Amino acid sequence: MTTSPPSAIRIDPATGRKCFATRAAQASDRIVGKGYSVLTEASLTTLPELPPGAVFNAEEQAKYRAFKEVRRGAADYMAMEGEFARYLDDVYSAPPVPREALADECELVVVGAGLAGLLLWHKLQRAGFTDVRFCEKGGDVGGTWYWNRYPGIACDVEAYSYLPLLEEMEYIPSMKFASGFEILEYCQRMAEKFGFYERCLFHTTVEETVWDEATGRWTVITDRGDRMRARFVILANGILTSPKLARIEGMSSFRGDSFHTSRWDYRIDLTGKVVGIIGTGATAVQVIPEIARIVKELYVFQRTPSSIDVRDQRSTTEEEYKSWPNEPGWARARRARFAKISNGRSAIQANDDYLAGKVPDFKERKQHERALSMEELLEKQLDSNFRIMEQIRARVDGIVRDPKTAAALKPYYPWGCKRPTFHDEFLPTFNLPHVHLVDTAPRGVQKINEKGVVHDGVEYALDVLIYATGFEWMATSTFNMIRGREGRTLKEKWETEGTRTFLGLHSAGFPNLFIVSGPQGGGGSFNFTDAIDAHADYIVWMLETLRSRGARVVDVRPEPELEYAEHCRQADVATAPLRDCLSYYNGHGEAEPGSLAYYGGNRWHKYRLAAQETLAPYLFD
Ligand SMILES: Cc1cc2nc3c(=O)[nH]c(=O)nc-3n(C[C@H](O)[C@H](O)[C@H](O)COP(=O)(O)OP(=O)(O)OC[C@H]3O[C@@H](n4cnc5c(N)ncnc54)[C@H](O)[C@@H]3O)c2cc1C
Repeated sequence: MTTSPPSAIRIDPATGRKCFATRAAQASDRIVGKGYSVLTEASLTTLPELPPGAVFNAEEQAKYRAFKEVRRGAADYMAMEGEFARYLDDVYSAPPVPREALADECELVVVGAGLAGLLLWHKLQRAGFTDVRFCEKGGDVGGTWYWNRYPGIACDVEAYSYLPLLEEMEYIPSMKFASGFEILEYCQRMAEKFGFYERCLFHTTVEETVWDEATGRWTVITDRGDRMRARFVILANGILTSPKLARIEGMSSFRGDSFHTSRWDYRIDLTGKVVGIIGTGATAVQVIPEIARIVKELYVFQRTPSSIDVRDQRSTTEEEYKSWPNEPGWARARRARFAKISNGRSAIQANDDYLAGKVPDFKERKQHERALSMEELLEKQLDSNFRIMEQIRARVDGIVRDPKTAAALKPYYPWGCKRPTFHDEFLPTFNLPHVHLVDTAPRGVQKINEKGVVHDGVEYALDVLIYATGFEWMATSTFNMIRGREGRTLKEKWETEGTRTFLGLHSAGFPNLFIVSGPQGGGGSFNFTDAIDAHADYIVWMLETLRSRGARVVDVRPEPELEYAEHCRQADVATAPLRDCLSYYNGHGEAEPGSLAYYGGNRWHKYRLAAQETLAPYLFD
């Protein structure tokens, strides 16, 4: 007797609402991994002495400028379309669970089931918003931690502050910098505990979101044929969602295996193979030491070196496992302390005693004799930033034995301008005889042929080529066509008027739409969970405000939006010297100031609080 498969959609008799069972099974049990190990060698886990008195003088400034200018225009990326679309395949899950297309209505559709989606669900249901549906491109929850499963993956922000809802989950990460695999499992536990799975349509990509003025509803159109209507749409689709490729002549001719790090293909065994990896950004820094352990030869093609800071990984201690659960709110308090440290780097030096609340501050605060002007403050920041980079460069010299390789691995730009990386095993990997750095500065790899990479007339024949070429940054408006009032898309609006939002969360003309951690979306810190948390709280507040006013629709007035966008522009310009390099953060030097990330610090909260108090920026209907 054959039994028919359980239906992917059932009706909950208690609520009359649809419940889903669309979570896909993992494609293979070979998809397993761990993050960094704990090292005991102090020479690798500590930085050389800070060079006393070193200043960012004219000569050093010129060096930084030259380093930047010589690379200008070298970043030529392409979307993964046509023959390269296969690099986007979901290699982690079994094929999508079959289900019928939906053409019904719910109150809220959320795009994305990463940490933001999960946190939103937790907060929404607590506030009584339960008619919520999630659409997720992948086969399971996790977002970043679903898609990125490369060997060595781990968070860069300490997991005790990064992972949300640790108290509610009664969970303590096993390591200070937990493996991405542990984070994924944690997301799955959250989804199970909070009843998320039955709210989510997996393997469902939202392709179009269209506002209908007459009904005051969005229609959400997906690649599964759905046309769902919703009063509200929340975009929780992440900041680093769309992997990108560098455009390189001949890439389609390569005959070996190839993939992008954001879709690590565990079907390909790298053991004993000759492997090439293009890119030395944050992902590659985590991958390289891991695969160097198993491959026969490893060629690392680098255009621009990353700053490799110390990691100093450690396991959670027995004492922490025992004591933290007895301190109510321990994780929230720790995250708040972490956020006081202005950048993630100091978090490494900040000892655990501060983060655990045992000592009141993480450093002795310097008292200046008089108040410093903005220019003086900036100069001081640039000098201390320079000294950090000097340490990082000295670390390369101290570890990497071959002087030519060491020279190529030294970055010359302000710390934090490109995504900072933290690793204690990356640099020593270049002392291994089978690991070769191919310095392709300043233009990057220019040619690939059927055998491998060709650079400077040398052919590097490869069995496997790995693209560690990163992601589009903050591309919210591009991969989901969001059509608001008057039929205009968000992309069209931002292309013609420049990026304009209020708090990064609303954009005038797109009522009842909320953008989590999009362009101009502040309220966060180096720890992304801060931003997600602040945005989720704001959205719940707005939905409650609508509920209490009996309003159906909220939009923002154009004037406060314009003022806020101008504030973002000015904040970006004022802090630009600290971010003077070419990086995805600034659209490789091409982005309009204020159009991408938010650099106004805590002023986001000031704008938010004022808006919440007066409600002046909003148009309620
Ligand atoms: C390798 C890597 C390491 C990182 N490490 C850290 C770290 O240590 N600390 C830190 O603070 N941040 C880190 N980040 C940033 C990280 O993205 C955020 O911390 C956080 O995970 C973002 O969560 P999210 O839910 O907002 O977005 P995501 O995790 O990106 O989830 C968004 C989800 O939306 C889905 N989606 C997108 N578009 C659509 C669509 N049209 N239809 C349906 N679904 C869609 C995607 O499939 C994805 O699952 C890292 C990022 C990467 C890539």
